[in-house]
Amino acid sequence: MESLNDLLRQQNLLNRGDVWIWKNNEHQEFSVKNVNSSLSQNVDLNSAPCTFIWNNWVTTKSIMFVWRAIEEKILSAVALRSRGMNQIQVICKTCGAAEETADHILLGCNFARRIWEPITFWLKIPMVNTEGSIAELLQEISDIPRS
Ligand SMILES: [Zn+2]
Repeated sequence: MESLNDLLRQQNLLNRGDVWIWKNNEHQEFSVKNVNSSLSQNVDLNSAPCTFIWNNWVTTKSIMFVWRAIEEKILSAVALRSRGMNQIQVICKTCGAAEETADHILLGCNFARRIWEPITFWLKIPMVNTEGSIAELLQEISDIPRS
């Protein structure tokens, strides 16, 4: 609470309307052109994109979750820490064996492994490798020969 109060005391309130700003260019008003210009300077447009395969059988909500998990964008403890919540405990609260990343929550955690076993049994596929990443798991499942 003291830390929050210190942060609030550092803020100066101005008597004017709200405006949108882009963090990389706080001196100009927000515009898509400024964002595009800023991103084109910071992003390597020649790098290989993620080879995520969109499956039309899966609901949009589910596939967006998986895509966000691959990109480490779901709210894991490690993702929250990288967003500035430094005081958060990042060790998995379920198993206590590793940092709580998206890959750990969905694959590496003992609890997740126990879920994967009946899923693979139900799908009649071999047990998947839960030591890697979500992207590797999807590739592994995609490579399994089946009808
Ligand atoms: Zn765990």
